[in-house]
Amino acid sequence: MAAQLTCNSCKNRVSLDTMRYSKDGSGLICENCWNKQHHGVNLKIKPQTFTKPVDTTPKKKVQYTCRSCSFRFSRSLDFRGPKLCPNCGKDTIMYNLPNDADELLRELDRLD
Ligand SMILES: [Zn+2]
Ligand SMILES: [Zn+2]
Repeated sequence: MAAQLTCNSCKNRVSLDTMRYSKDGSGLICENCWNKQHHGVNLKIKPQTFTKPVDTTPKKKVQYTCRSCSFRFSRSLDFRGPKLCPNCGKDTIMYNLPNDADELLRELDRLD
């Protein structure tokens, strides 16, 4: 039995299995609301993130792969949100480590 959570957008109770991460950062939402975001029913003005001055000290990124849906994504090393797959919402993500894996793992250990 999958847990039920409240969609942050429409407030319906939906199964955790079907939930996705909202594009606008409001958290987990149901599949219906996610589809609306992705098919652009309500096109909003783009957030300001692209007009910000470029950070001259780029953060280290860690590559992740989801074992449930094989979705690949990257996050900065100091990401503090829930460690869930942004595609399927499951906590089955694993580090997809580059060549300097040992160094990265040590850093991750320190951060946790
Ligand atoms: Zn919803
Ligand atoms: Zn996934």
